[in-house]
Amino acid sequence: MEPWVREALLQETLPRGKARCLTCEHRCLLAPGQVGFCRTRENRDGRIHTLVYGLLSSISLNPMEKKPFYHLYPGHMALTCGTWSCNFSCPWCQNWEISKRAPDPKSGPGYFSPRDFLDLAGEFQAQGVSLSFNEPTLLLEWAVELFPLAHRAGLHTNYVTNGYMTEEALELLVAAGLDGVNIDIKGSAEAVRRFCQADQEKVWRNARLFKEKGVHVEVTTLVIPGVNDAEEELLRIAERISAELGPLTPWHVTRYFPAYEFRAPPTPMAVLERAQEVGFKAGLHYVYVGNVAGHPGQNTYCPGCKALLVERKGLALVRCWLAGPRCPRCGEFIPIRVAAK
Ligand code: SF4
Repeated sequence: MEPWVREALLQETLPRGKARCLTCEHRCLLAPGQVGFCRTRENRDGRIHTLVYGLLSSISLNPMEKKPFYHLYPGHMALTCGTWSCNFSCPWCQNWEISKRAPDPKSGPGYFSPRDFLDLAGEFQAQGVSLSFNEPTLLLEWAVELFPLAHRAGLHTNYVTNGYMTEEALELLVAAGLDGVNIDIKGSAEAVRRFCQADQEKVWRNARLFKEKGVHVEVTTLVIPGVNDAEEELLRIAERISAELGPLTPWHVTRYFPAYEFRAPPTPMAVLERAQEVGFKAGLHYVYVGNVAGHPGQNTYCPGCKALLVERKGLALVRCWLAGPRCPRCGEFIPIRVAAK
């Protein structure tokens, strides 16, 4: 068997050779030979197998700001990778070249064992590892082996995710040492069902669970004209973040550009700036404008005295004035993890 084909960790064996995948909330029921909604899990002889264990479509060394993580190790570099396909069907996917393709061992960097990937992170002198680009839940089996190795080597770990894993998968990731997640909250339940074929309540549940279990959580909403750009909708999202994850949770409202099958025009700047205001109005202390190079809405200001604490430009950190979790000017608690590792 190819090294990227492994028996899946989470599954239920059923009569007549059927099996249910328990990796994500689609919970696909697969007959022998069938592949799941995400095309990365297959029933082979009555057992679910992942087809993407360590099978990488892309690898790059990125600043934490690119994920985006603004409150987790500003300025650190994370060796970042993704695999193929996705368990959502969003027609506007900004990474559609890899997320809309079935696993392809002949393209991209190909197979990496967790140890190989960590060695590469060492060569690049990365301070963390990040699973991103497509949906990292699909790399579950590989991630739970990578993360303990990464911690042992002094590297931090993160997921940039649609948050649709099962509770069992979430538990495995937390136990393996997942330090941070950036979770997409895409819009109303109706919009997520219609466009992404998913249940948004499961995503909210997982955001709460990660938070309760001590994982660092940031939230991103790609603001898409006609999908989730109505002020009432943005206010609903912001109020839920504040109530369920806490007002100190960073919320990134990011600019959409036409991609894949979606042809709405790019998000107008005025809409993004209004979204930021709406976030503050809902009680969130840290709301950031993303995908707009050089916008002051990328910076962190002290909610107490308004001092500039972290300056960012594009995908890079310009300067961080924090040496610990307090504003150096007024002493306000600032929930940004700056300590090395
Ligand atoms: S990971 Fe999700 S979409 Fe893929 S087979 Fe398993 S349950 Fe289905």
